Amino acid sequence: MIKLTQIKKSFGRHQVLKGIDLTVEKGQVVAILGPSGSGKTTLLRCMNYLERPSEGEITIDEFTLNCRRPSKSDIHELRKKSAMVFQQYNLFRHKTALENVMEGLVIVQKVPKEQARVRSIELLEKVGLGSKLDSYPSQLSGGQQQRVGIARALALNPKVILFDEPTSSLDPELVGEVLSVIRKIAKEGITMIIVTHEMGFAQEVAGHVIFIDDGVIVERGTPNELFGSPKEERTKQFLKRFT
Ligand code: ADP
Repeated sequence: MIKLTQIKKSFGRHQVLKGIDLTVEKGQVVAILGPSGSGKTTLLRCMNYLERPSEGEITIDEFTLNCRRPSKSDIHELRKKSAMVFQQYNLFRHKTALENVMEGLVIVQKVPKEQARVRSIELLEKVGLGSKLDSYPSQLSGGQQQRVGIARALALNPKVILFDEPTSSLDPELVGEVLSVIRKIAKEGITMIIVTHEMGFAQEVAGHVIFIDDGVIVERGTPNELFGSPKEERTKQFLKRFT
């Protein structure tokens, strides 16, 4: 479903991604772990071209983009394949929960308004916000805003959902409600890639875990392999902090 080949990214002279190869199967839930500044968010953003990789190839759902000289329509094609859930929710402040979810459907996918409304209400109900359709982001808790963000991502019917530390802006008591929504979606077989610091969650929900340090994939495996018997010294050191 997803194949990244030799993805490299530099900011000025700082090479943040040093040649990432990654394959993700359909329906897989992949957690990306690693120290702060190791390149996790940059990698995720490269996957939908929010960051422009300096080199490499991205394939999602049989569409391949060569990062050297992509055309605008190639970038557009690639972006249609994924949806991002952001750390800071990134909702439109002047739109209600319902309008936020409808926006992508109506504007990007040109779905008729009434149809978009019905679908968006369904999705907001699914994330437990059926009673908050007309609330503005400022009237919602962080956890509720993030659940709107997840409904918005689902609305686009993407091949993969990219989660960028979806709970790291939340007060601890609000983390659980967001994780349980992600858990629920994971069970439906949607392909997901999740950058997270929630080790317990990664262990429970992800079928595959990737440990990144300093712009390279140091180790990958099942949660049992990676958490239970990490092979690389850097992985061991990193995991030690969470035990
Ligand atoms: P992580 O998600 O693992 O914490 P990031 O991908 O956010 O790491 O960042 C990796 C490195 O890239 C950091 O050193 C960060 O400062 C740098 N970086 C990220 N975005 C930019 C940017 N837009 N401009 C310059 N440097 C950046």
